[in-house]
Amino acid sequence: MIVTSGGIGGNHDLVRAQWPARLGTPPAKLLSGVPAHVDGLMLGIAEKAGAHHVNRDRMWHYTEGIENWNPIWARHGIRILPGPSSLWLDATGKRLPVPLFPGFDTLGTLEHIMRTGHDHTWFVLDKRIIGKEFALSGSEQNPDLTGKSVRDVLGRARADVPAPVRAFMDHGVDFVVENDLSALVRGMNALTDEPLIDEAALRREITARDREIANPFTKDLQVTAIRGARKYLGDKLIRTAAPHRILDPKAGPLIAVRLNILTRKSLGGLETDLDSRVLTEGGEPLDGLYAAGEAAGFGGGGVHGYRSLEGTFLGGCLFSGRAAGRAAARAVG
Ligand SMILES: Cc1cc2nc3c(=O)[nH]c(=O)nc-3n(C[C@H](O)[C@H](O)[C@H](O)COP(=O)(O)OP(=O)(O)OC[C@H]3O[C@@H](n4cnc5c(N)ncnc54)[C@H](O)[C@@H]3O)c2cc1C
Repeated sequence: MIVTSGGIGGNHDLVRAQWPARLGTPPAKLLSGVPAHVDGLMLGIAEKAGAHHVNRDRMWHYTEGIENWNPIWARHGIRILPGPSSLWLDATGKRLPVPLFPGFDTLGTLEHIMRTGHDHTWFVLDKRIIGKEFALSGSEQNPDLTGKSVRDVLGRARADVPAPVRAFMDHGVDFVVENDLSALVRGMNALTDEPLIDEAALRREITARDREIANPFTKDLQVTAIRGARKYLGDKLIRTAAPHRILDPKAGPLIAVRLNILTRKSLGGLETDLDSRVLTEGGEPLDGLYAAGEAAGFGGGGVHGYRSLEGTFLGGCLFSGRAAGRAAARAVG
């Protein structure tokens, strides 16, 4: 038997129970970035059969989760794949520290957020940035990029807001879209239990950032990163908005997006050997039991360690699946 039942991200009780101490208290609010069937129940069943479940505290959750306005499963969240220009603020409106810029360091940002005492953060941006820089995780969310139409891809270069992103602006509960900052702050504060954003402080924060756009020798490392990204033609054309002032009315309207923690990957799992045979706590193979993919921590029980390279998970699924298939076929002759 080969266990390939996936991770635990759809089971928030399990995620909270295995939440690592290094990330503080588990978030009170979590969105599910995986379908409900990713419930981890098979891991418990395998354990009862004698399997060793290791590295449970290694997990990968995203920090840019938004509630799907058109959900397919319970608490369905979508991850924003952001370009580098949005201003990233904690729940009280303070900019996140360097180098926690959009798209830079998922687990580092998660660790920081869990120390703020709040589960959510904010992107503050404008229409020009959202048009060019927001992609939504999941191929069905990016028809302009996945539909094999050059014209649609070039829509990004024109900073048209892609239809799925536009739908979130219109219907998403986490989105505030307004023409002036006062109204934006009122909208942001209406989305949280307490009004944590102070308009004058936020205006100072954005103005300080905007001032650096005109400074070629800026020490604002996010502005430097935006300029660096645009040195690569692909990013310049369809991924990174030209540096501009967020408070420039011509770039508007202003947009604030409340970001939630979104479950995604389990980096630990059933311990296996190189043939994907499941091991007991004593290191002996369990007769006839194999595990592959996320259920096996992408191979071995946690081949990625505590961190990983973004987007490299499917490789471990394929590799451990192939090893399991070959070994199981050999075992049955
Ligand atoms: C939106 C999204 C985007 C992603 N993007 C990337 C990416 O760009 N790059 C990357 O490397 N990874 C990405 N991932 C992660 C990657 O897709 C998963 O890690 C991978 O699919 C896990 O594969 P798996 O076969 O181990 O498990 P799954 O794909 O979760 O499949 C498990 C299967 O087991 C079934 N199952 C569960 N329990 C039982 C049971 N008791 N009995 C019978 N069947 C059961 C489920 O129905 C499911 O079909 C993404 C994930 C999501 C959700």
